[in-house]
Amino acid sequence: MKNTILLLFFMLVMKLCAQNSSVSGKVFFKLDSSALPGATVLISGSEIGTQADYDGNFELSGLNQGKYDIIVEFVGYGKDTIKNVVLKKNSDLHIDLGLPSGPCYQFTDSNKCPIDGSSKNVIPIIYGLPGKKLMRKMKKGKIKLGGCEVTGCEPNWFCVRHQKEF
Ligand SMILES: [Zn+2]
Repeated sequence: MKNTILLLFFMLVMKLCAQNSSVSGKVFFKLDSSALPGATVLISGSEIGTQADYDGNFELSGLNQGKYDIIVEFVGYGKDTIKNVVLKKNSDLHIDLGLPSGPCYQFTDSNKCPIDGSSKNVIPIIYGLPGKKLMRKMKKGKIKLGGCEVTGCEPNWFCVRHQKEF
């Protein structure tokens, strides 16, 4: 009996002290995928933050489970907030953070290419893991896949002729 109570107490303490979740990944420049050493990664509304290392990798550890907004910032490149990142207990979430050039894309719902104003060679950019249907469309060149890193600052369209995202 005594042992059981001790065990329960121990488990409770373990639970209260469990701040073992972490977020790690890489900060990169979206236009050429190069690493951004020295970029700042912060948990919004907290003192928790770090800087990306020489290879652009970062890790924020000792976090509680919960929902976080993660801010990534690099002088000269821009700033972005990834909202509602859910951390499970004792987990390591891997997330790659792509920074756009400047504060944000001037993204728009208009599919007219900013270079010549034509929508003729413009295809939509689709994010997330594509299914079979989208893969077929991509092979036909009807869509462009934007990948799984979503920063909230994504371009919506791609001009095939000028190789420009907007
Ligand atoms: Zn164009």
